[in-house]
Amino acid sequence: MHTGRCLCGGVRFRIESELAPIQICHCSQCRRAQGTPFASNIPIKAAAFRLLSGAELLSSFESSPGKRRVFCGTCGSPLYSQKDAVPDVLRIRAGLIDGPLEVRPVAHAYVASKADWWCIADGLPQFEGPAIPPPSTPG
Ligand SMILES: [Zn+2]
Ligand SMILES: [Zn+2]
Repeated sequence: MHTGRCLCGGVRFRIESELAPIQICHCSQCRRAQGTPFASNIPIKAAAFRLLSGAELLSSFESSPGKRRVFCGTCGSPLYSQKDAVPDVLRIRAGLIDGPLEVRPVAHAYVASKADWWCIADGLPQFEGPAIPPPSTPG
C-alpha cells in the first residue's frame, strides 16, 4: 500500500498493491513530458489505483495514437500514462509516490534516444528500445 500526490497536492492517490520495479525510460517523449533526461515509471494494475482526490484536475494529452499522458491540470505534475490497448495498466511516475519505496530501478529503456548530456553509470541493463522482457513500452 502506497500513497502519492502531485506537486500542488490537489491530486492524491493510493496504490493498493506491491510495486513492480522502476523502469527508466529515455525516449524523447518521456524526456519532454517530464522535462528531465528520463522518466521513472512503475507499471501498476489500474484496479489497484485509487484516486483519493483531484479527479476534476486530471488532464491528459494523447502523445501518440492510443496513448494518453495524464497530468495535474493545476501544477502540471506528470501522473501516469495509459494505453487504450492495455487499459488495465497505468504507468505511474515513481517520483509522485511517498517513500520509502521497496523497489529500485531495474533497467534503462530507449537509450538509443537518450539525452546526450546524461551519463548512465549505474550498471543496470540498457536497451536500445523497449526493455526486455515486457512490460517495457515507452512510459
Ligand atoms: Zn497538482
Ligand atoms: Zn518513454
